[in-house]
Amino acid sequence: MDFLHYQNGYLLADNVSICDLANQYGTPLYVYSADHITKQFLSYQDSLKNKKHLICYAAKANSNLSVLNLLAKLGAGFDIVSQGELERALKAGADPKKIVFSGVAKSVVEIRRALEVGIKCFNVESEPELYRINDIAHQLGKTANISLRINPDVDAKTHPYISTGLRENKFGISYQLALDTYRKAASLNNIKIVGIDCHIGSQLTELSPFLDAADRILALVDQLAAENIHLKHIDLGGGLGVCYDDEQPPSATLLVSKLIEKLKNYPELEIVFEPGRSIVANAGLLITKVEYTKHQDGNHFAIVDAGMNDLIRPALYQAWMQVLPVKESRDSNTKKIYNVVGPICESSDVLAYQRELSVEQDDLLVICSAGAYGFSMASNYNSHPRPAEVMLEDSNQHKLIRERETFDDLWRGELVL
Ligand SMILES: *Cc1c(COP(=O)(O)O)cnc(C)c1O
Repeated sequence: MDFLHYQNGYLLADNVSICDLANQYGTPLYVYSADHITKQFLSYQDSLKNKKHLICYAAKANSNLSVLNLLAKLGAGFDIVSQGELERALKAGADPKKIVFSGVAKSVVEIRRALEVGIKCFNVESEPELYRINDIAHQLGKTANISLRINPDVDAKTHPYISTGLRENKFGISYQLALDTYRKAASLNNIKIVGIDCHIGSQLTELSPFLDAADRILALVDQLAAENIHLKHIDLGGGLGVCYDDEQPPSATLLVSKLIEKLKNYPELEIVFEPGRSIVANAGLLITKVEYTKHQDGNHFAIVDAGMNDLIRPALYQAWMQVLPVKESRDSNTKKIYNVVGPICESSDVLAYQRELSVEQDDLLVICSAGAYGFSMASNYNSHPRPAEVMLEDSNQHKLIRERETFDDLWRGELVL
């Protein structure tokens, strides 16, 4: 992570001491760099400057209002997957005309609200959804802009839980049914076809699945044009991977330039992207404190105050995330191979397996690359209040962007019989 470095033996994020952040805000604590988020967003935007485009940040990666607001101010649109994300985006100042709505289970209430605020389009994931949107638009006397999310049936070569573009996945409309579904859409009175989209998975570290998917989607664009169905935009989804360990994903600049190249014969077509992880993952870290060390039966545990409730990626996807000690290094002959484990009563509550560390009780550790799918997947399991979130700005400023939950927050809305 480019904004972390050691100075006089202690870890700094930009020019801010991690120890000071932990003292001021407590642990576990999520910390994000506004500069890094901005830089990542601009790397997409700059490579698209000669092409009609919209970058719809995938809000689910990190939906803190400050993150959404920062991106909205830079001109981002948003890819949302629920009304909750829609309301967050609006609250954060998003322009509804830059919002695309993905997700397989859009409810009547969600569709109605999205039509009322006037989003850019629905990324429709099934035929019954298409009919439901048409009916609701009819009731409201509106026309719904739609894109069909097509499943291009390409192997994204990523973890199966974050692969979405294979035939057997629940997402999108099958490639074989695509044309037929477009024809049906074209016959509906309250539907306006505006685009086509795909999203084949997450943490993709190779270019080829993106390029294969684009070829397959463009073949459909041509077939649709032959039937006089003309699209305004092509949305190639998100999914670009980041470096957690030694992965070498293509840069956003390279990915975008390769895809623009494919679109050179389609000058009218607006290109849309839905990046999430690649904007925020390496902008964030999770600070945690060692409560105890435990040495038994040849195993060494660093038991920390953050768990799978705060950061579920290691438990859910076997994700590897770098762990750095905040105090640079103690005597190297005190190093041991540790499992870094949390407080949750589950054996899967392991943040990191088999890391060489030298740690003592009350030490601070940093889990790197925790800006995406970190806080946004956090829960209150085992009745732990969710952590606070802090944004770093201008290299030495830090601001609280979400208060640590209180115990009252834990039972808010609950009623005793
Ligand atoms: C999750 C998701 C994204 C973002 O994926 P990243 O891997 O975070 O870039 C984009 N589009 C859709 C439809 C998604 O579900």
